[in-house]
Amino acid sequence: MEKTPTKCSFCGRDKKDVSILIAGIHGHICNFCIEQAHGIISEETSERRAKDSKKINLLKPSEIKAHLDEHVIGQEAAKKVLSVAVYNHFKRITQSQPEDDDVEIEKSNIVMVGETGTGKTLLARSIAKILNVPFCIADATVLTEAGYVGEDVESILTRLLQSADYNVQAAERGIVFIDEVDKIARKSDNPSITRDVSGEGVQQALLKLLEGAQVNVPPQGGRKHPEQKMISVNTKNILFICGGAFDGIDKKIARRLQTQIIGYNVSNNKEEIDKDNYLQYVSPLDLRTFGLIPELIGRLPVVVHLDPLDRNALRRILTEPKNAIIKQYIKLFEMDNIKLSFDKAALDLITDKAIEFKLGARGLRSICETIMTDAMFEIPGTNEKELKITSRYVSDKLKKSNFNKLRVA
Ligand code: ADP
Repeated sequence: MEKTPTKCSFCGRDKKDVSILIAGIHGHICNFCIEQAHGIISEETSERRAKDSKKINLLKPSEIKAHLDEHVIGQEAAKKVLSVAVYNHFKRITQSQPEDDDVEIEKSNIVMVGETGTGKTLLARSIAKILNVPFCIADATVLTEAGYVGEDVESILTRLLQSADYNVQAAERGIVFIDEVDKIARKSDNPSITRDVSGEGVQQALLKLLEGAQVNVPPQGGRKHPEQKMISVNTKNILFICGGAFDGIDKKIARRLQTQIIGYNVSNNKEEIDKDNYLQYVSPLDLRTFGLIPELIGRLPVVVHLDPLDRNALRRILTEPKNAIIKQYIKLFEMDNIKLSFDKAALDLITDKAIEFKLGARGLRSICETIMTDAMFEIPGTNEKELKITSRYVSDKLKKSNFNKLRVA
């Protein structure tokens, strides 16, 4: 009987056309097929690994808050409400609900109301980090209604896609922080002849994103690449956190509370209102008076306030958070083998200056930069091994610099 020529059982190549042909029990495999199979295996494994690393870290609300405490000083009320809202949101998306279940847990987008520099962005960023989900920050002031000069709301999702390395599945579970949402409030005295394309128009456009829809996103963003192929992103499970200073909303809150007091029992309610911090009483009603449209407010069911930062909070921000400014300087100097330390009085003075100049938490860094620049310039390369920052050192450096110019009138 004539022997059949040996062939690769996968691709059918003849023995003479390949360099290696390995025999198995019932067949053979050639070097080409081995290489191809190897390629498939490594691709699959790396995809699986990437997926695993994108797994959401679902922590309990108290655990989320404990993590937030490491990065954000104060803001207890905001941290608590945010931890619960975020926990519920991710519980909703990680535990699949049976289709016939009548109780559908709705999305809990969040709006944060608080003066600028009180930690709104920091809170949103910290949450995204804790949960290990893609995160992006969008600025509402650059958005306009589609068709007008400015950015379309879809550009927000472009940024989210980019932060997820274009992994659509991961992006669809991400967190978007929309800053300065108060700037798109309806302009109340807007004459009806001109369209409010950067105010109410944007609010209308945002609705679509917030309520959960299939949105076509230009992967490169903008309108400069009309030929780009759109990526379809479902926003159903994206958590939107909006933030804004809502300047003047405290007066609206105060007015509402006053009318309520008159309407109800005067003697009972009067003492309970803390007149120094009206923001803590903020409600969806006040957002509406401020100029957000009811449909948008309806999509932002969780309203939290941030407290203004007092002296104690600013002083703690300098040294306590995991990534505190002072810790950063100490580390920078450590890299040059220099032991940097700050006197308590020096830290107090830095805090006082931030308050005096009305610079808030953001100002702490600029004050520190002013104080430390000379040392950072001069000391590396010398034999100095230690630098102690005293209050005298702080005041000398501030006097020498033009820091007074930063004073906010
Ligand atoms: P906002 O978004 O409210 O304008 P940010 O979150 O951007 O303010 O805060 C500005 C900077 O001030 C942050 O980089 C952070 O270092 C610091 N900061 C503000 N508030 C806090 C806080 N409560 N705890 C710790 N750091 C804070």
